[in-house]
Amino acid sequence: MRDRRKWIVRTEKGNHVSLIINPLLRPHLTALAATVTAPLVTRFAPSPTGYLHLGHVVNAIYVWGIARALNGRVLLRVEDHDRIRCRPEYEAALLEDLAWLGFEPDFGLEPLLRQSDTPFVYEQALEGLRATAHVYACECSRKDIGGERYDGRCRGRGLKVATGRGIRVQLGNDMEKFEDALLGRLFQLPAEQCGDLLVRDRDGHWTYQFAVTVDDLRQNVTLVIRGADLVSSTGRQIFLARMLGRRNAPVFLHHPLIHDDLGEKLSKSAGDTGVRELRSRGLSAPEVIGIAAARVGLVDPGMPIHASEVPRLFERRVLPGP
Ligand SMILES: [Zn+2]
Repeated sequence: MRDRRKWIVRTEKGNHVSLIINPLLRPHLTALAATVTAPLVTRFAPSPTGYLHLGHVVNAIYVWGIARALNGRVLLRVEDHDRIRCRPEYEAALLEDLAWLGFEPDFGLEPLLRQSDTPFVYEQALEGLRATAHVYACECSRKDIGGERYDGRCRGRGLKVATGRGIRVQLGNDMEKFEDALLGRLFQLPAEQCGDLLVRDRDGHWTYQFAVTVDDLRQNVTLVIRGADLVSSTGRQIFLARMLGRRNAPVFLHHPLIHDDLGEKLSKSAGDTGVRELRSRGLSAPEVIGIAAARVGLVDPGMPIHASEVPRLFERRVLPGP
């Protein structure tokens, strides 16, 4: 059940918002600050495979809100490791929409930080991984595997790395134990969940798991704030980060998602939730941010929120009334 204690904050325009404090909606900031290795750096890392929608806005609210509330910094990273689905027009649009919303990254914007611009970084990381782990070529297709878990059938075959073959790293059998800043203590067993991790696919693309783990390490990201749909991959990323030489894993925070009317996670094609569509209907940026915040329960509906005000959604500070 939700904790129904009401807190009052005052927004820039003098409006009053009653906030429902829900432990699964807001982290305990003091506790979070104590667990993150300083300096606090988090990231907003969209993929240019579609336009920004309300789901991205929710993520931006959490990223900027928590970073600013804790005097941390926000890194922008364009995750375009999937060279087939990413398009320059989506990248331009997401940067423009983000600026329109008023969310300003502290770094990564100029010059723009794109995964595709630094392939050698991932090559180097793979070489490093070969020194600490069993890395091997795998010729299995998704169809061969049939599900999320890979059974390691190419592990002992000694296949040569070649075009048309993927590259995997063997995972140990250890249980990963970590403290999610919203969900609490979680236990995951990556070897059981997914089996040996694919780092490069059969088309030669670095996988999401590998690319983000390498980037979070080299860019010193200490707090990863992302949607709850990604929680199951946390253990494998912590495992991989350790194999890549990371001493302190980043702290993870998985926030609630907006679901559409059918209960599905928002897709990139969702017409009525696209930032572009809402803009074209004449909504202001604070109205769009307010809609996104209300859709996950951070505020009551109908409350515009300026981007500079999002830290207040996380600060349990009671401001004086009118
Ligand atoms: Zn295989």
